[in-house]
Amino acid sequence: MRRKVIDDQVSLITGLGLGFTIAIQLTTLTRSDFADIYSQITTASRFFALIGSYLAIIGLLLIARISWIESAIGHDRLVTWHRKSMPYALYFITAHILLVTLGYAGGDQMRVGAQLWNMITTYPWMLPATLGFVFLLLAGVTSYRVFRTGMSYETWWVIHLYTYLGVALSFMHQILTGSMFITHPLAKYYWIALYVSVVVAILFWRILLPLSRSLRHQLMVSEVVAETPGIVSIYISGKNIKELNAQGGQFFSWRFLSKDLWFQSHPYSLSASPTNTSLRITVKALGDSSTQLAHVKKGTRVFIEGPYGIFKASSARIGRHIVLVGGGVGITPLRAIMEEFPSNTQIDVLFRASTEEDLVLRKELDQLADKRGARVHYLVGSRSVHTMSYEYIKKFVPNFHDAEVFICGPHALVEAVKAAAKKAGIPKNRFHDEAFAFHGN
Ligand SMILES: Cc1cc2nc3c(=O)[nH]c(=O)nc-3n(C[C@H](O)[C@H](O)[C@H](O)COP(=O)(O)OP(=O)(O)OC[C@H]3O[C@@H](n4cnc5c(N)ncnc54)[C@H](O)[C@@H]3O)c2cc1C
Repeated sequence: MRRKVIDDQVSLITGLGLGFTIAIQLTTLTRSDFADIYSQITTASRFFALIGSYLAIIGLLLIARISWIESAIGHDRLVTWHRKSMPYALYFITAHILLVTLGYAGGDQMRVGAQLWNMITTYPWMLPATLGFVFLLLAGVTSYRVFRTGMSYETWWVIHLYTYLGVALSFMHQILTGSMFITHPLAKYYWIALYVSVVVAILFWRILLPLSRSLRHQLMVSEVVAETPGIVSIYISGKNIKELNAQGGQFFSWRFLSKDLWFQSHPYSLSASPTNTSLRITVKALGDSSTQLAHVKKGTRVFIEGPYGIFKASSARIGRHIVLVGGGVGITPLRAIMEEFPSNTQIDVLFRASTEEDLVLRKELDQLADKRGARVHYLVGSRSVHTMSYEYIKKFVPNFHDAEVFICGPHALVEAVKAAAKKAGIPKNRFHDEAFAFHGN
C-alpha cells in the first residue's frame, strides 16, 4: 500500500514538473514564433529541448539513490524506470538538434550543414553542449544489449559516468540561449533550482552518505569461509551496524580496499541477518572480482553503498504463508530473509540446484528450518525433472495458492515460478523477485 502511494506521489510530482516545464515555454511564446514555417519548426524544437532535458534530469534523479524513494520503490524498479526514461530524453534532444538546425537554416537561407557548423562554432556554450550530447549518445548506445554484450561492466559503468558530464555541459547553453530563460527570470530560477537539486541529491546520496557511513561504521573483513567449491562467505565486522537499518535479503554495493579490488564496487546481498557488529555476504566466483574475493585478507577495509532493495521479510504481509524459492547461489538472500520472519510464520523453502555440490549453506538452512519448524525441499537435478510448474510445486507445497513468494535465481527459474504463481492465482504484489544480474540482462 505504502509502495503504491509513493509510486503515485513520484508520478504526480514528475508529471507536475513536466507540466510546469512545458508551461514555461508556452508563456513565453509570441506571434513571431509562428510567423513562418521555419519559426514554427524552431519553436517546436524548443519544446523538444525542454522536455528532453527535463527527462534527463528525472532519469538522473531516479538513480540518485535517494534513501526514502529506494526503500519504497526498490532499487531494481528505479533502475528500470531510469532505463526506460533516458532513451526518450535522448530522442527529444536529438529531435531538438535536428529541428533547430533546420529552422535556423531555413530562416537564414543557409545549407543545413553550414548552419550546424555555424551554430556549434559561434553560439555561446554550443561546443560544450555538443560534446555533452555526444556523451549522452555514447551512454545511450552502449546500453543497448547488442553493444553491451562483450563489454565489461566496468567499461560500461565508466562510459555511463559521462552522462553526468553530458547533462552538466548542456546547462549553460540552455540558460544563455533558451528564449524561455532569457526573457523570464522566474523560469530561469526554476531551471537552475532543478539542476542544483539534482547535483545536491547526487552528491549527498551517492557520495557523502556512503562515505560517511563507511567511515563511521569502520567496516573490515573479519573472516573468509569457503562454503562450496567456488563459493565463499565473507564476514565483515563493524561498529553500530544496526544504525544502517539493513535487513536480511537487502544488498549493498561493496568496495574492498585491497590493492587489486579498491577501484571497483559490486552488489552482493546479505546472506545472514545483520547484527550490531557484523554483516555477511556469500559470493560465487563468476568473474575477475568475485574470484579475487576468495583471497581478500582479514582486516581489509570495506566501503559500502546501501542498503538497497525491498527484497526483505518486511515486504510481506504479516501472517502470510511464505514460500522461498532459491536457485544456486540465489539461495543466499533467502537464507537471510528466513531468519527475519516472525517465529510463527509458516515457511516452505524450495532450493533448486543442478548438483548436490551447489547446495550452498545447506547445513545452516537445515538448522534454521529445525529451529523455526520450516520445511526445506532440495530439488537437485536437471530442469526437465524439476519443471517448477504449478502442478510440480503443488506436490511440495499443497497450499501454494495461499503463499507470498520470494524468489532469487536464474532468469529461467524466476520465469517458471512466476508462471506457476500466476496459474495459482497469486497476485503480483505477493510475488517478490531479486535478480543477481546486471539490470536488463
Ligand atoms: C542486486 C544484486 C545482488 C547480488 N547478490 C549477489 C550475491 O549475494 N552473491 C553473488 O555471488 N552474486 C551476487 N550478485 C551478482 C554479482 O554482483 C556479480 O556476480 C559480480 O558483480 C560479478 O563481478 P565480476 O567482476 O566477478 O564478474 P564480471 O565478469 O565482471 O561480471 C559477471 C556478471 O556480473 C555482472 N556484473 C558485474 N559487475 C556488476 C555490478 N557492479 N553490478 C551489477 N552487475 C554486475 C556482469 O554484467 C556480468 O553479467 C548480485 C547482483 C545484483 C545485481
